[in-house]
Amino acid sequence: MSSLTVDEARARAALIHVERYEIAVDLTGLLDGDAWRAQSTVRFSCREPGASTFLDCDAEVEQVVLNGVALEGAAGPRVELPGLAADNVAVVRSVQRRTSQRTGVHRAVDPSDGRVYVWTSFEPDEARLAWACFDQPDLKAVHALTVDAPADWTVLTSTGDPVLTDLGAARRWAFPDTPRLSTYVPALDAGPFHVVRREVDGHDLGLACRQSLASTLERDADELFDLTRAGLAFFGERFGLPFPQRRYDQVFLPDLGGAMENWGCVAWSDAFLTRGQPSHGERELRAVVLLHEMAHMWFGDLVTMRWWDDLWLNEAFAEWACHWAAEAATEHTDVWASFLANGKLRGYAADRAPSSHPIRQPAPDVATAAAGFDAITYSKGASVLKQLVAWVGEDAFVEALRSYFRKHAWGNASLDDLMAEVAAASGRDTAAWTRGWLGTAGTDVLALEDGVLTATGPDGAAPRPHRLDVGAYVRDGDGLALREVLAVETEGPATRLPEIAAADLLLLNDGDLAFAVVRPDAASRDVLLARAPALPTAVGRTVAVTTAWQLVVLGELPAAAFVDCVDRVLATEPAGALVEPFLQLAVTAAGLWSPDADRDALLAAVADTCVTLAEEPGRRRAAVRALARTATAGEQLAALDRLAGDDVDLRWARLRRRAALGLPVDDEVAALLGDDPDPDRAVSALLVRAASLDPAAKQEVWDAVRGLAGVPLGRLRDVQQAFWQPSQAELLAPYAERFVALLPSLGTGGMISSMATVGALFPVVGADAALLDRLQRAAAAPGLDPVVAQTVVVRSDELRRMLAARG
Ligand SMILES: [Zn+2]
Repeated sequence: MSSLTVDEARARAALIHVERYEIAVDLTGLLDGDAWRAQSTVRFSCREPGASTFLDCDAEVEQVVLNGVALEGAAGPRVELPGLAADNVAVVRSVQRRTSQRTGVHRAVDPSDGRVYVWTSFEPDEARLAWACFDQPDLKAVHALTVDAPADWTVLTSTGDPVLTDLGAARRWAFPDTPRLSTYVPALDAGPFHVVRREVDGHDLGLACRQSLASTLERDADELFDLTRAGLAFFGERFGLPFPQRRYDQVFLPDLGGAMENWGCVAWSDAFLTRGQPSHGERELRAVVLLHEMAHMWFGDLVTMRWWDDLWLNEAFAEWACHWAAEAATEHTDVWASFLANGKLRGYAADRAPSSHPIRQPAPDVATAAAGFDAITYSKGASVLKQLVAWVGEDAFVEALRSYFRKHAWGNASLDDLMAEVAAASGRDTAAWTRGWLGTAGTDVLALEDGVLTATGPDGAAPRPHRLDVGAYVRDGDGLALREVLAVETEGPATRLPEIAAADLLLLNDGDLAFAVVRPDAASRDVLLARAPALPTAVGRTVAVTTAWQLVVLGELPAAAFVDCVDRVLATEPAGALVEPFLQLAVTAAGLWSPDADRDALLAAVADTCVTLAEEPGRRRAAVRALARTATAGEQLAALDRLAGDDVDLRWARLRRRAALGLPVDDEVAALLGDDPDPDRAVSALLVRAASLDPAAKQEVWDAVRGLAGVPLGRLRDVQQAFWQPSQAELLAPYAERFVALLPSLGTGGMISSMATVGALFPVVGADAALLDRLQRAAAAPGLDPVVAQTVVVRSDELRRMLAARG
């Protein structure tokens, strides 16, 4: 399928101006069938009458009428429009029957009650699957939707207050015009939703989900509304522009992966409605995602990148802004620390891999651009913006953003537009900064020796300018006392620090302002490993733990030393936000980064920490889940039995562990299926089989994920964790081989689906050096989907390092 190129997009944008889309959608064929019917009426002008262009419509095109004349033989995915007038009306009638692939338009069936729900999700260029449009970000237009839906359905779109007409078995929903939007941000979600609405600060806020999750949504509605109100108030004030629409809906949807910033109608995977009481980490993640999608109303929807090469203007900003807002306007005040232990580590991993690329990178066509939705664009991008804020100061940065939104609202912008505002507001020359940080791939290394801070660029390149803090700590009994914080701006490869009073630990990048690999001096490194729990701030402790983690990844510290360090931090960690990320690192280091001979002892050490942590009510859920990935010895399994109690979520976790160890679980699975009210409980049962030692069960799960059947996208990470058990190398080795063979067939289900599927099936266990070679060759083969190729290259780089660490 041809993917729109940047040259084609530029030519089309130079030729036409799109005024509006009037789109009539008929959903009645989706109640029992697969047909999504649409008629798109496109009003646009042409700057060179007589010229031709094309509409995008990747569906069955039934009829095309241009300026009153039917075009015989017109077809998609590119509908040619010859002989344009100065002002044009094109009417395209189409049917989309690919409605079960989780792309563009999706029809989901709730397995528990058979009810049907329909959603759209269009980024980067899947609006053309739903209706005819000029599907590129810089051709913005008003969208006016009219939707015929079964009479008992609710239809939610980007605008509110529809006019309803009774059609008997169906109802017609006529929605007011949207503002001028890029084609990828309008939304249409429909079904017999459970809806909760609340009037807050002049906004009409809505939450919706499928009927079978109504009680779960009701449980969390207050919290979600509070976060929504806090976010709208914070962003409206900081960006100097309140969200300009009364309606702001958030719809939790089955089969969707992640979340999507549809204007005024954000789409969420309903996996975010955790069936058990959400843990601290799950609540924090939900707050961050809520604020990320909300930030997109400004970064992306209101001001949109001109082309996908500036995707970072959307994603890096949204990812930075959500943490900024969460820290300032919600209870999640340690969110930058957990970002460091989660997303930022993924950013470093992606930046280390051979597939690393500059944050801003060319996107020759949309298919290539889809591979840019990665940890470099999101996590490194957000980190680099945090660095920029530290470099120019928050006040200047906010002033720059206000000016940027004022000038470009409802239009498109590029890198230069944004950086010009930052330069003007801050008085700093941003050219070198932009080149180094946005235009160059790879991570600098910062090291401190004898009072000199050295900065080394990637592959011998000149280092970037860094603004970082160095914390000077002295031993104080068993603890550490902060003596002073040095605010440092590096210039070139060597920067002499001001005189520091004798310190036992110089914590490089204290406060985590910089994006760099840091190498402490030898004396500091020993103190850091021994006394990390004594550091006074959550960010400081996270810098210590992640500095140690990076040393493991780089082959400079054994996993055992890391596990020892993080276990001791966990034992006294006061910040609830850090418990789950630290547990995750501990379990991963013990299970995947340690030599076979050490693994069980390290897992047992982590399990003991979990048993202790589980005594604290606020830590219990996280600790028992981690115990269910580490318990090996009889006593630990007994503790797991006791701690799981009658909590359905923890009982599933316990059964996964028992299955992984080869213990009988079938009767308990059957009983739990009876007790669990989750409409997706079959997935939980599948995860037990995924963990199991039974070869037939492994094969069944593999086939289910490969065929995209029976596993919602939002649960594929759970599959990955359950399937690739560190103790099952022999059983899993054939699947490592199968993954290599499978690669060419992956990537047909859309961007998010591709990333999630590759993530779930990637062999972190059962692979050896020879397989890794074959994997890397396969990832480089021509014709592979760019999203698949890039995901495999990043994961392969990590696997290579794991194999080295395992020895
Ligand atoms: Zn985003």
